[in-house]
Amino acid sequence: MKLKTPEEIALMRESAQIVSKTLGMLAEEIKPGITTLALDALAEQFIRDHGAEPGFLGLYDFPNTLCISPNAQVVHGIPNDKPLQDGDILSVDCGAYKNGFYGDHAFTFAVGEIAPETQKLLDITKASLYKGIENFQIGNRVGDVGFAIQQFTEAAGYGVVRELVGHGLGREMHEAPEMPNYGKRGRGKRFLEGLVVAIEPMINQGTRKIKQLKDGWTILTADGLPSAHFEHNLALLDGRPQLLSTFQFIYDALGIESDEEAPFAYSGPTIS
Ligand code: MG
Ligand code: MG
Repeated sequence: MKLKTPEEIALMRESAQIVSKTLGMLAEEIKPGITTLALDALAEQFIRDHGAEPGFLGLYDFPNTLCISPNAQVVHGIPNDKPLQDGDILSVDCGAYKNGFYGDHAFTFAVGEIAPETQKLLDITKASLYKGIENFQIGNRVGDVGFAIQQFTEAAGYGVVRELVGHGLGREMHEAPEMPNYGKRGRGKRFLEGLVVAIEPMINQGTRKIKQLKDGWTILTADGLPSAHFEHNLALLDGRPQLLSTFQFIYDALGIESDEEAPFAYSGPTIS
């Protein structure tokens, strides 16, 4: 585990906030009729305009700025020229690289009006992210976060994807430790001050089983039911989990009131 100083964490927050603002910009554009390629182009320009580079473009040869995954796609969807339709859901995962550090987070958007059971999948998946974050505490272990997410989402009857996991974050997009969304209490690596992670539940409405498209990237549910994905970046700083990312720009764009982030508010140094 590469532990970060408060100064490094401030730089990482800068990268994370560029992603947060990009997702906030996209929130206003995600509507029936727009294509995911058009969203991708907007995101790339926005990130570059903020003095950063797209974090995913070219990483492991990924071809675009956004991993954009509608409906039954879990993650790693590739932007295309198919227009979004009313009732779709869309996982948008975005990375930015600035000052030598990555930001990486994701939000699943409703496109127009979605079915109540699909809204419930989004609500439970996002709530599970915060259950995980509550357990990202000094002295706790990797399994405590995974256990909390798994218990909460399986209680709703959902499937927890096993093959893809959260991760440490820093000068590399994927650092140790891996952060599964399942696990046993008290197991795995112990959390220490200065650790920065991406916690990212990927939760399926039906089976936890997945398959991969022949494009070598797109992961989708084996049963074709919808999947949701929410991701935040957090640092253990001053003895508690602090958010480097925020969904507030999304909520501002969509007119949503939320105090979900308040317990994990950032109080570390900032870059002026
Ligand atoms: Mg991500
Ligand atoms: Mg990630």
